[in-house]
Amino acid sequence: MLTTIKEYLSQLIRLHSLRSRIFVIILVIGIVPGILMRYAIIENYEQRAVLRRQDTVQDQLTTIAGHLVTNNYLENYQQTDPQTIANKNVINAELEMFSGIYDGRILIINSNFNVIRDTYGLSEGKTIISEEVMKCFQGERMFNYDEKNGFIELTTPIVYSVQADDDGGEVKNVVRGVMLTSITNASIVETRNVLYRQSLIIEMIVVMVTVALAIVLSYALTKPFIRVTEAINEVKEGYSDEAISVPEYVETVHIIDAFNQLLRSKRTLDESRQDFVANVSHELKTPMASMKVLAESLITQDNVPVELYREFMNDIVSEIDRENQIITDLLALVKMDKRAQAMNITTVNVNDLTELILKRLRPIARKKDVELVFESMRQVMAEVDEVKLTMIISNLVENAIKYNKDHGWVRVELDADHQYFTLSVSDSGVGIPQEALPQIYERFYRVDKSHSREIGGTGLGLAITKNAVLLHRGTITVTSKESEGSCFVVRIPMNHITSRIGER
Ligand code: ADP
Repeated sequence: MLTTIKEYLSQLIRLHSLRSRIFVIILVIGIVPGILMRYAIIENYEQRAVLRRQDTVQDQLTTIAGHLVTNNYLENYQQTDPQTIANKNVINAELEMFSGIYDGRILIINSNFNVIRDTYGLSEGKTIISEEVMKCFQGERMFNYDEKNGFIELTTPIVYSVQADDDGGEVKNVVRGVMLTSITNASIVETRNVLYRQSLIIEMIVVMVTVALAIVLSYALTKPFIRVTEAINEVKEGYSDEAISVPEYVETVHIIDAFNQLLRSKRTLDESRQDFVANVSHELKTPMASMKVLAESLITQDNVPVELYREFMNDIVSEIDRENQIITDLLALVKMDKRAQAMNITTVNVNDLTELILKRLRPIARKKDVELVFESMRQVMAEVDEVKLTMIISNLVENAIKYNKDHGWVRVELDADHQYFTLSVSDSGVGIPQEALPQIYERFYRVDKSHSREIGGTGLGLAITKNAVLLHRGTITVTSKESEGSCFVVRIPMNHITSRIGER
């Protein structure tokens, strides 16, 4: 259990497994938007609350400034007559009330920059010449939110409407004083903190639910893939050789289909290998058995005539030749089965090569009185493996002679286009039955076993030929009619394609 958790965590850190990726994706999708939204909402709340507070406060300060003007507060602040004192007390009460409500401080500054009223009573009589105050005297209001120290600062002009004496008594607005106000943002901060705490609790619940969901989903969604691995392992370890099925996802179906196909082809390969070994043993045993019978009959008989000895010995020699031929063909086939084996590619004059092969085979054809004709449509220079091409042409022409009738003919035709050259070998021989055609390239397959043996076939010639053609990335096709003849056509690219056949 501990190792499983350790393994899971290390996969999670490296993000190597699908499970850890699903886990992280769900976590990110579930948690990040919540966090961002929380910050956005809290930040937005604070800004909006400060602006609203500024609007309300500014409205009230403007009203107070109006009262200051109507009561000539700036001019009469040092007067001591009862009426003025009564008026001043009304204004002072208004200022105190404002300070109480907003937990703030108001300084009233006259045009000499003297503080004539401070609701905290600390700065009265002092002079304030600050940039904000100067600007406010020019009619520009200031607003400043000091988030760090937790207060809002604003200036309000105290505006008088005066009639100008010069040009016809036009009414002008003149700033004769400034209210410098600072209020705390404590209530805003408190609401923000409450909001923050509540959203943090919600966020933590969301995180916990998301983590649980991420664990459950990452397990559930990857389970079919684990089942695929288990099923493949079962087959691999030999507990089962049934075709497996995990139909949960299209992807698992595809993986399993590919695996089942691999399994089938492996089985076919195993079977064909077993067949091959059985065939090889059988083919090798047959000449041995004949030799044994021949030798034993000589040993068990007394006074065997010399002629019989010679005849039996000749038979033994031909059986040895046959055994030799089978082994040579098998070696050629095995060599070609090594897929990675390098092709020895050179540019070969196929016309000359065919002529040479036909010259070598002519005596055999003559023995059967078979006419051997070569027709070349053009000169063909191709990139091929000369030894393998020789094998292809010899096997096809040898077969065409072997499976021919007396006084028959064999025609070899060579032609080419810009991409491929085509070599066709047709004969007037015994032909191949239609039903046998698909099997003729199989190892040890012979249409007429006894006759073929008499002729000297091993059943490996066409298997070798087909392999050699495929190694050149070519094709071989056959058309045949029983007792009329056959035609084998080989088509090979003029320029060798470098990728190897075994990798296809
Ligand atoms: P073999 O060594 O027996 O000739 P091959 O693999 O070359 O083996 O050929 C397989 C079988 O195909 C032969 O046994 C023969 O029955 C048939 N065959 C091949 N070529 C011809 C042909 N030109 N005409 C008739 N039958 C043929």
